[in-house]
Formats: sequence, C-alpha cells, structure tokens
Amino acid sequence: MHKILRRQIERYYGDIEHLPEEFKTFVEAVGKTYSDYEKEYALIERSLNISSKELTEINQELRKEKEVVEQKVRKRTAELEDERLKLTSVTAHMADGAILLDPHGQMLFSNRAMQHMLGLKDSENDKTLERLFKKFEKVNLKENAIQCVTAEEPMQLSGVESDTNIYNILFRHVAAEEHRRSIVGVLIFMRDITEETLLERSKSELVAVASHQLRTPLTAMRGNVEMLVDESYGKLNTEQHELLDDIQMSAIRLITMVNDMLDITKIEKGDLEMTPEKLNISEITDSVLSDLADYAKRHEFTVQHKKSGENPQIYGDKMRVRQVLQNLIDNAIKYSRHPGKLDISYTSKKDGYLELALSDNGIGIPKAEQPKMFGRFYRASNTARTTSSGSGLGLYIVKSIIEQMGGAIRFESEEGVGTTFFVTFPTKEVQDTHATKEHITSNI
Ligand code: ADP
Repeated sequence: MHKILRRQIERYYGDIEHLPEEFKTFVEAVGKTYSDYEKEYALIERSLNISSKELTEINQELRKEKEVVEQKVRKRTAELEDERLKLTSVTAHMADGAILLDPHGQMLFSNRAMQHMLGLKDSENDKTLERLFKKFEKVNLKENAIQCVTAEEPMQLSGVESDTNIYNILFRHVAAEEHRRSIVGVLIFMRDITEETLLERSKSELVAVASHQLRTPLTAMRGNVEMLVDESYGKLNTEQHELLDDIQMSAIRLITMVNDMLDITKIEKGDLEMTPEKLNISEITDSVLSDLADYAKRHEFTVQHKKSGENPQIYGDKMRVRQVLQNLIDNAIKYSRHPGKLDISYTSKKDGYLELALSDNGIGIPKAEQPKMFGRFYRASNTARTTSSGSGLGLYIVKSIIEQMGGAIRFESEEGVGTTFFVTFPTKEVQDTHATKEHITSNI
C-alpha cells in the first residue's frame, strides 16, 4: 500500500489491521490509484526530461545551420555584387546601348551608351525609357518589347531610321533559368549603324553607276565582235578567228559580271522587280537549252529533258525564271566531267508547288563547303581545277530570285560524283513569300 495512505489510516485507526472489514477493499483500490498515479508522474517527468534534452540539442543544431546559411548568403551576396560590378563595367564600356526592362515594362537597368545615344546626360538615367519609346514611336518599340516576353527567338528590327540616324535593335528575353516560366525581363540592345549603312549605300550606288556605264560599251563591243566572227566584214584566217572568239568570250563574261553586279545592288535595295504570270516551265527550259546548245556541244555534254505528260505550269517572272535556269544549266556544263550529262525532270508537290530537279554527273561540291554555296562570291575549292571563269555570284542571285517568287532552292552533292539542284516553284499566285518559304522548307 502507498505509504502516505498507510500513514493517514494509521492516524485515524491506529493500526491498519483494525480497519473495518467493509473499508479494506475500498482502501486497497485507493492505494492502487495512489501508486498508479505515482508511476505515471514518474513517466511524465522522465519524458519531460528527455524532451527538454532533445529540444536543447535541436536548438544547437538549428543555430549551427543558421550560421551555415548566413555564411552562404554572405558569400552569394558578395558574388552577386561582384557580378553586378562586372556587368556594370562591361556595359559601361559597350558601344551598343543596352536596357533591361521587367516583364511589366519598367526599366531595371540601362548603360551609359544607351543614355548617350538618346541624348541624355549620366544624371538623367530616369528619363531613359520614356526617351527611348519616344525616339522609336514609329516602329512601336514598346509593343515589340512586350511581344518579346513570349517570343521563342530573339527579335530584331533592322535599319530603323530615327532623326538622322539608322539603328539595329535587338530584343531578347532574359530568364532566371533555362525554363521560360521565370522570365526576369527583356533586354534591348541598340546599335547605331548609320556610318556603315551610308557607306554600304554609297558603295552600292557606285557599283550600280559603274555597271550601267560599263554595260553600254561592252554590249557594243560584243555586237561588233559578233559581226566580225560571223565574217560579215570579210573572211578570217584561223588565228584571227581564235583571237576574236577569245574577245567575244571575254565580252560575254564581262557583261554577265556587270549584270550580276546590277542584280545584286537591286536585291540589296529590295528593288528586284518581278511580274509574275502563269508559265510553262518546260518551254522555258527548252529555250535555254537551245541557247546553250553550242556551248554544250563544245563540252560534249548531253542533256535529258524529261517532260511529264501535262505541261508543267508554274507561277513566276518569265525573264527571272529563265535567268535561274540559264545559271543552273550553265554551271552544270561548266563544272562537268567528261562525258558530262544532265537530267532535268519535274515533280508535282502538294499544296500547289512544282519541283524542278537538275541532276549532273560533274565534279560535285565538297561536303565541308556546301553550307557556303549560296553566299556572295563563294566558289568551291575544286572549281579552280576545272575552270577559272566565274564570280561566285550566280547561286546567290538565283536563290534571291527564287525566294522572292515564293519558291525555294537546295542541293545534294558529292565530290567526284555529281550535284542535284532542287528548285521549288509555286504553281499559283503567292501572297506572302515569307510564309511560303517556311511552308516549303517544312514540306521539302
Ligand atoms: P560561279 O559559277 O560564277 O563561280 P555560282 O554562284 O554560279 O558562281 O556558283 C558558285 C559555286 O558553286 C561555283 O563556283 C562552284 O564551286 C559551285 N557550283 C555551282 N554549281 C555547281 C555544279 N553543278 N557542280 C559543281 N559545283 C557547282
């Protein structure tokens, strides 16, 4: 029995043995409650002791962790500050203007070049955004910046004229991670291209004027030599014939070159005029082949022109389509291997396009150089061994013409085996050549 209970009973009844019988069971039950209570109390006390010990340990650990985190934060803050200083000093020395906007269009940062381009002093940084939007009101810069937040690729406005200057403006969204969900803002770069554009324009004008001036005397020279070669002014001996043939070839080459230069200035100015109409392409091919028949014969070059049952119709400018075919067939002959041959065929493509394939067995184009072939003045390294004549302008012009007509061009080639050019022409009137280009490339 619990000692406190025993003491109380003894105080009232003297001895526990003298306890009336009817109380004994009751006292036993009370005694049990007393000792149960004591056990529970001891249990609670023990668990309280354990908890408080655990709490102290947790507290110590938390403190340690807090210190580690604080250290990390201090280190990262120092790194970020370092980055910020680097960014500020890099952008401060940049010739391009740079401005960073948040996704709501508020300015987060701009560099000194941007302020100077906008005619602001260093102390007027807060006026940058307003002045920038005002300067490019006509091209709606603000709208472009908003669009850029959701655009997949960086956007560019080229040759934007404002006041007396010309600019290229690049928009690029900035995301905290690779994923676009956390977009921090839009970075706008502005480059003043006034000087180079004006220089480029005057160069093009000079080329255009010079080419025009050259074309007339060259054409006269060609006509006169032609009459001499035809012996309209008397019989020629073999040597005279050879000399005049050479002069005639050179005149033709110069005229081609001058025409190419004029075309390039037109392409660059966006002045390549075209009058599209329905054309029978196989008729144009026949006519080009007949013009080049002598040239092909001299090279012992054979052409197979596979016409399909129906007349293959396309939609384009007659003179320019002729120019494209002339160039591609001329190249096939020029870069041929003996015995040279060319297969020309047509295939109807879905959604109103026709594909012309010109497949030769010539010298081919080295793999590594293939991506450069449609660039200006590019000639493959293996051509010098075959022919020295050529300017490397033909394919550039051909591609520009075809794309302006809403078509596309590509080729497959293997050095020493041959080359196939695939030209896709629209067979119906084209509204938006840009959309068409994407359509064709995705369908080819
Ligand atoms: P050009 O013939 O005046 O050099 P082009 O622009 O017409 O200029 O062609 C560029 C280059 O592409 C050529 O110099 C040649 O290296 C290569 N090329 C074009 N067509 C062919 C072809 N059918 N076979 C092999 N190489 C070709």
